[in-house]
Order: sequence, then C-alpha cells, then structure tokens
Amino acid sequence: MKASLFFLGTGAPDAGSDDMPAVAVKAGSTLILLDSGEGVQHKLASIGFGLSKVSNVLITHLHGDHVLGLVPFIQTRTLMFKPAPPLTIFGPPGLMKYLNESFSSLHFDPGRSLEVQELKGPEELRDRGVTIRAMLLDHTVFTIGYLVSLSNDFSMCYLTDTRPLAGEDLGLSCSVLIHDSTFSWIDLDRAKEFKHTTALEAATFAIKTKARILFLYHISSRYRNRTFLENEARRHHLNSYATAKYMRLSLIL
Ligand SMILES: [Zn+2]
Repeated sequence: MKASLFFLGTGAPDAGSDDMPAVAVKAGSTLILLDSGEGVQHKLASIGFGLSKVSNVLITHLHGDHVLGLVPFIQTRTLMFKPAPPLTIFGPPGLMKYLNESFSSLHFDPGRSLEVQELKGPEELRDRGVTIRAMLLDHTVFTIGYLVSLSNDFSMCYLTDTRPLAGEDLGLSCSVLIHDSTFSWIDLDRAKEFKHTTALEAATFAIKTKARILFLYHISSRYRNRTFLENEARRHHLNSYATAKYMRLSLIL
C-alpha cells in the first residue's frame, strides 16, 4: 500500500507566519489530519485534498497554534457537503466545550456527521481500520501524542508539544518520528521553561525509539535557517530533517 505524509504547517506561533502545525497522512482511502493550525482548510485544498476526504482529526492540545484552523475547517466542510461525510475528532478534555461554544457563538450547526471523543489518558483506538495509540506528553497543558499504525511494520509517531519522553519506558517504536524541535540546544533553558524540546534532544529520543527517519517539527521562527537545527540533530541521528511547509514524504508500506 502507498502512503504519504504532507506537512501543511511546521512552525511555532509567529504573527508573520502561515506555517502553523498540521500534518496530513494519507494511506489508501484513509486521510487523517494531525492538528489543525490556522489556514489548514486552504492548505488541504491547495494540495488537492478535498475537505470531505478527511476521516479523522487528531488534536494534541488546546493551544491556539494547533487548533485555530479546526472550526473553519468543520464549518466549510459542513456547508459544502450535504450531508457531510462522517468525521471523528480525537483530542484532549475541553475540546468539546471549545467546539460547542464556537459553534453556538457563530450560530452554526455542525450536523450529525461530527463525532468528538475526548481522551483522558493513554488509550488505544481503532477507527476505520487504522490503529491509533494515544499517550500523554509533557507540556504546559494537557497534551496528547499519537502513534498511528498504518501497517504491521510501519508506525508514525507525532509528538508535539512536549519535553522529551523516556522512550524506553513507553515501549515506543516509531518508523517515522515527527517530534517537537522548537529550540536549539543553545536555548535549552527556554525549552525547559516552555516545555518544548531541542533538536538535539529530539535526535536522542529518535535513537531510543529506533526511528528510521526524524522530522524536526514546530520550529521557532527565531531560527531563520532551519538547517542549523538539522545539523544539530544529525550529530545524534543522521537521518534527521528540518520540516518545511508543503514538504512531502511518499511511503511504500
Ligand atoms: Zn503548545
């Protein structure tokens, strides 16, 4: 089976940027969206992915940069397709309240096609043939990381925003690892203060989880040259890449 990863947004909050976190994973007819930063609906359309094709959205946490594109995405999808195809959203506690209050304020009814499941702890989920493992991350608010298994031999881990976890304890094995790399090791103090990860720490974690490829993600706009972080990570894990908006990876599973 062929699968693809599309990075729709890869940065951290910045007023001048339209690069807020979102990744689309396509495997066969399944299309999963990880996080929904601002402008996600335009980006899906610009790579030729219809909004109706998204079957699942996995939200990590309720910080604006990860979720501010979600309500517009749901609204457009509902207005365009009658009835809109089923959409299941997984996310942290509080997501339902956020969505209901937004819909109510906007005099908008999302209809019956929308299902929202709040996850309160580690859990294994199965939806439309895809296995998803949810785990708790270490951030300033309740945050969930996701391991998406696309086949018996292939798993993709999406871990942001967070301090590095103890990979051995989790028994995690990630074929592809997309990891918070907001800061460089020279800004380790900031990473600890704001509960993010440095590129060097992400690379160390990639070794622990036997990741074949590491994508450095959620990169602060203070690093104009992202290869700086890439070089930092490659000291520990050679197959490391700084992500950029619209970067694409094709996989044969
Ligand atoms: Zn955050």
